[in-house]
Amino acid sequence: MRIVALAGGIGGARFLRGLRAAAPDADVTVVVNTGDDITMYGLRICPDLDTVMYTLGGGIDEVRGWGRTDESFHAKTELEEYGVPTAWFGLGDRDLATHLVRRQMMDAGYPLSQVTQALCARWQPGMTLLPMSDDRVETHVRVSDGGTDRVIHFQEWWVRHRAGLPASAIVAVGAETASPGPGVLEAIDAADLVLLPPSNPVVSIGTVLQVKGIREALSTTTVVGLSPIIGGAPVRGMADACLDAIGVETTAEAVGRHYGARSQGGLLDGWLVDVSDEGATVPGVEVRAVPLLMTDLAATAAMARAALDLAGA
Ligand code: GDP
Ligand code: CA
Repeated sequence: MRIVALAGGIGGARFLRGLRAAAPDADVTVVVNTGDDITMYGLRICPDLDTVMYTLGGGIDEVRGWGRTDESFHAKTELEEYGVPTAWFGLGDRDLATHLVRRQMMDAGYPLSQVTQALCARWQPGMTLLPMSDDRVETHVRVSDGGTDRVIHFQEWWVRHRAGLPASAIVAVGAETASPGPGVLEAIDAADLVLLPPSNPVVSIGTVLQVKGIREALSTTTVVGLSPIIGGAPVRGMADACLDAIGVETTAEAVGRHYGARSQGGLLDGWLVDVSDEGATVPGVEVRAVPLLMTDLAATAAMARAALDLAGA
């Protein structure tokens, strides 16, 4: 079976670990959001690609959910001592090595897709990780800060301000002219099934879908999604602030309706919501309620099996 999944960071990565356990023989390609990428200190940092790579490769810090296990932050502390204004961004010492390799390869002319392949040679994720695009796309957020509007990088809004500044717009700058990364459209065309893991519907999945050609490519394949919203709240993180910014209610039903039915110009054939959201409906979409908390690998694999069952139906 050939499966394509679109993914952000932690929600996508944890789900993929369950999918790998549930369908060990499936050929899985993951199209990863790069809208969160940011250049700092000359390094190109790709948080979602690295979260998926480290999680599948066994190198993730399980408690934080991002960055490396057994991490230290000496470089970050030194930056703070210099009063560097971007020191709010958490860069671990082990993690820095990944960014240095990426910088060196990009300086030598390799596109992000090839850099990702090279990094994955170490981490052996067991799936093919593809950046959504080799072109630069960056999510920016228009915030109102003490009465004046300004535009900041997504990471500054998310990490520095914990999404606490009200956002009036979220824009994936460059997405409309970016080309899908090598292999992305081919993988979708060849897929028996496309999965939307419980990733952020706005700044993870929503950003991938804005790269030209990707949304259109999904229209001929079965698509099943899993809700990142349970009982009217994100399980982790501040997806509610992102949904507010695009005028979508923070419920499993509203997110399903936002994606919409493939038969009606939307995306979905099937939508999984948590048992606590039983009764949610999305016109034209088969909705099922199953436990959606990724508490451990067994629970996560059961979610993946439920998604495969729904796709089969
Ligand atoms: P990010 O890029 O690190 O923010 O990660 P993603 O976009 O891939 O995933 C973030 C989403 O994962 C959040 O909206 C969470 O609500 C969701 N999430 C995290 N843990 C769980 C879980 O156990 N179950 C479900 N259903 N969603 C989860
Ligand atoms: Ca992310």
